[in-house]
Amino acid sequence: MKMATAAAAPQPTGTPAERLAFVRRTLAAEAAAGGHRPAKLIAVSKTFGADSIRPLIVAGQRLFGENRVQEAADKWPALLAETPDIELHLVGQLQSNKAADAVRLFQAIHSVDRPSLVAALARACAQAGRQPELFAQVNIGAEPQKGGVAIEALPALLDEAAAKGLAITGLMAVPPADRDPAPYFALLAKLARRHGIDRLSMGMSQDHDVAARLGATHVRVGSALFGGR
Ligand SMILES: *Cc1c(COP(=O)(O)O)cnc(C)c1O
Repeated sequence: MKMATAAAAPQPTGTPAERLAFVRRTLAAEAAAGGHRPAKLIAVSKTFGADSIRPLIVAGQRLFGENRVQEAADKWPALLAETPDIELHLVGQLQSNKAADAVRLFQAIHSVDRPSLVAALARACAQAGRQPELFAQVNIGAEPQKGGVAIEALPALLDEAAAKGLAITGLMAVPPADRDPAPYFALLAKLARRHGIDRLSMGMSQDHDVAARLGATHVRVGSALFGGR
């Protein structure tokens, strides 16, 4: 387990394939230690171009994450033409006016955090005739500057989604920086159990080991794979 006082992530060493193998081994070992199935690894490629992404594709990675709809729309069509079986997840904030684009581009959206976005996604999904896998983003540390629905408002958001016919099957959170993330991950897992939700998107480069041990089903790892941004 990582200490709460861990310094900034060091630049990863090794080839992209070696970094990928290292992260995968960590996820498998921590999941086993916690009695869970290994989390899916989302390689968060925001700010990185095709030349940085291709080596990971060659190494076998097929699940990638982006945090901006426009960046993903600019970058991924060419890569998807080369390797059609890639899955893209949106891990960043989504503006309601980009909901239709997001539904077209992404197999999952990890940042559903307000009723107006639920409404926009419901319209976009009805129009597209498909629904990406949806995660409600929870402001797990009650930080004023951070995105995500307040813990107290989560039940109402889930009710709103259900009323609009949207299935929210996961919870996502980013714990406060410079704090031990474990209690926040445990709280997210508890909220998910309470609502009968079985997918947990938690853990980034700094703390994916801790998240994996606590039952993450999806971890979102950028810099440990791609290097610093
Ligand atoms: C950038 C980002 C990540 C990946 O962060 P790293 O620290 O580079 O691993 C994960 N989740 C979200 C929401 C992000 O924006």
